[in-house]
Amino acid sequence: MRKGDRLKEKIIKKEQIGKWLEKLGKDYEIWAPVKKNGLVSFYPIQSAKEIYFDFLNSKKTPKDLFFPQSEVLLSFPKEEVGKEVKTILQKPRIIFAIRPCDAKSLALLDQVFDSEDYQDPYYVERREGILLVGLACTHPQQSCFCTSVGGGPFEKAHLDLVMADLGDGKYFVEALTQLGEGLMQRDDSLQDVQEKDREKLAKTKEEAEEKVKSKLVTKGLEKKLDKIFDSPLWDRVHQRCLGCGICTYLCSTCHCFALLDEKDKARVKRIRNWDSCMFPEFTVEASGHNPRISNRERMRQRVMHKFNYFVERYGETACVGCGRCIQSCPVNIDIREIIEEIRNE
Ligand code: SF4
Ligand code: SF4
Repeated sequence: MRKGDRLKEKIIKKEQIGKWLEKLGKDYEIWAPVKKNGLVSFYPIQSAKEIYFDFLNSKKTPKDLFFPQSEVLLSFPKEEVGKEVKTILQKPRIIFAIRPCDAKSLALLDQVFDSEDYQDPYYVERREGILLVGLACTHPQQSCFCTSVGGGPFEKAHLDLVMADLGDGKYFVEALTQLGEGLMQRDDSLQDVQEKDREKLAKTKEEAEEKVKSKLVTKGLEKKLDKIFDSPLWDRVHQRCLGCGICTYLCSTCHCFALLDEKDKARVKRIRNWDSCMFPEFTVEASGHNPRISNRERMRQRVMHKFNYFVERYGETACVGCGRCIQSCPVNIDIREIIEEIRNE
């Protein structure tokens, strides 16, 4: 054991989590997976009893905590049009039990909304000071393919602290940043790790990785895509698509939006709404011309953006293999099959 590990790694019993969160709740707003009407999503919680620990992954991604589906960017009396309007201030927040793939997707969104060239003040303000407490995936789903896009069910990158269910009423907790260490030290009843806990952790991790059955080769895909822009492949892969946009709305990395100005008698509002490249209106120009005239061009754009344009710009694939698009597409379009087709083209 390395020096200092004793402080950074602890064991917490399931029944202790409530007390720990109670202590953290004094300084932080805690958001965690909660099951409502049969669907699991992230909500603010007051007590650990509200958390649904047995989730595979949330239906909606946690991205909307930083980049909401619809938000008013500016609102002011008509006579104040043109004056500076202050953005929203947030309390410090913990996102508890976030999955490793979703933590990675936030790091990808950071590159878009918080880069050296451009900072989106609304996103940045929500994102600053957020602590991510991860929950490793012990039961990856059939639709998961995180290991094919640089992730893994026990991946620790981008987290402050990670927890793993050892299956015997205990969680292995590891602090990955100083802030994460601070969260762990709030509760001195956390126990020291024993050698058998470490062995259990290694076994659980190995078993989880084995459960990710989809193994795709995504390395070099961007180069292949460069060569097949006009391929007949695009005539095939879009055919069942209904253009509903679910795959993009539930995607943890999709981030396109549209701005809309609204006014009533007293106020003017600028609203930002999520948009989708799978919608026909997405690229309609003022003249009425639409360069992406059918689902063929839209599907190609979705794939190109994730596996070519984003890689070219940021050096990473804009897909974390969460599988949400696969699970929720009403006509069973599977992005893994599209990747395979591209490989074989
Ligand atoms: S969810 Fe399926 S049907 Fe809907 S836009 Fe995406 S690929 Fe097309
Ligand atoms: S494209 Fe599909 S699998 Fe990839 S991050 Fe988006 S929803 Fe998840």
